[in-house]
Amino acid sequence: MSVIPSQAKSKQLRACLLCSIVQHPMDFRKNGCPNCEELMQMKGSPDRINICTTTYFDGIIAVIDPESSWVARWQRTSKYVRGMYAVRVKGRVPEDIETELENRGIKYRPRDQTDQD
Ligand SMILES: [Zn+2]
Repeated sequence: MSVIPSQAKSKQLRACLLCSIVQHPMDFRKNGCPNCEELMQMKGSPDRINICTTTYFDGIIAVIDPESSWVARWQRTSKYVRGMYAVRVKGRVPEDIETELENRGIKYRPRDQTDQD
């Protein structure tokens, strides 16, 4: 008997609003976001996960070489982990996080637009 629920497909996955990494909610809860946990603080906090991630995203791409991917180009960082990333994410990060980003000199751009690079 399989223990994997048949509905455990993309519907159950959530995308981080900041870096658009796609993970299972349990992964966000256990480990937070591997890229922006410092800012998002989702680890062990379902409420934060609800605010900072979304199920409304389009397309998933596997990023195995983050340094040369569009993810890295967009964020101008090579610190991104390998993994699955959403091509487009609807919604935006909470205002306090956006402010925090600005304080750090990072300009937040919601990933719900079509301007790829
Ligand atoms: Zn993230």
